[in-house]
Amino acid sequence: MRYAVLNKKNKESISLRETLMGKIDATYDEIDPEVVFSIGGDGTVLNAVSKYAHILDRILIVAIHTGNLGFYTEFLPKDLDDILALLKTDYQINEFSLLSYKAGTYEGLAMNEVFVSGKFKMLEADVYIDQTLVMNTRGNGICISTPTGSTAYNYALGGAIIDHDIKAVQLTLAAPFDTIKHRMAYPIVLSEKHEFIIKPKNYDCELSADRLHINLHNVREIRVKISTKTARFLKNEHNVFAKRIKDTFIGRD
Ligand code: NAP
Ligand code: MN
Repeated sequence: MRYAVLNKKNKESISLRETLMGKIDATYDEIDPEVVFSIGGDGTVLNAVSKYAHILDRILIVAIHTGNLGFYTEFLPKDLDDILALLKTDYQINEFSLLSYKAGTYEGLAMNEVFVSGKFKMLEADVYIDQTLVMNTRGNGICISTPTGSTAYNYALGGAIIDHDIKAVQLTLAAPFDTIKHRMAYPIVLSEKHEFIIKPKNYDCELSADRLHINLHNVREIRVKISTKTARFLKNEHNVFAKRIKDTFIGRD
């Protein structure tokens, strides 16, 4: 087996990386790994997905959280021996949706969300679902998220938490400010068959895809939909989604 490790640059994550590399019976291959260990938080997972976006179909991500459990990070440092044993078995995986976006000459993937904003100005845009214009909006921005990204920025914007087993895409507005009659105040959740098309009135705006920020110049149309690509994660069978919601948003017992 070929593996790589991506870790957060804090003491606990660096030390777990060393322990893992001392125990694992496999070859380190940063360029073409079969298994990618992400040690840190959900943010570390976003980095791993972005780094290996071109070979996501071939890799298995093992996400270990140093600190509290996250939404992608199903395992804790104490699970290390169990993980190494599990990898030798017929393990189960979580296959998570990604978004694909296209904006002018830019295209790429996002694991959590695509967020379009007007930089320092208000974003004014028409929003289409496929060929149909569904709203005109002005405000801080428009967030389009995956089910796994629904607990990130989407949640802060008042969006719904979506079960990871549902294939869906959600649109939420950031601080919408206007009385244009076609504005919708509430999130829209669509099945994976549909595409959101944003036609900004500000041809110069900003697009964020997870941790990546792109300045768009003279862009008339931004297209976002569920990608045919997915990210594959080692599943922790003992993990209960409802419990993770509780631990994150209410607190641990
Ligand atoms: P970051 O440190 O990577 O992430 C910011 C925080 O969001 C961290 O605490 C991270 O958890 C958590 N997080 C990431 N993905 C999550 C998920 N799917 N569910 C629940 N929590 C999640 O900061 P960054 O470099 O700016 O990362 C970009 C992410 O931050 C974006 O994808 C966006 O979702 C989020 N963001 C949120 C807001 C907001 O809430 N107002 C604004 C901008 C961006 P860990 O500590 O475990 O890494
Ligand atoms: Mn966290």
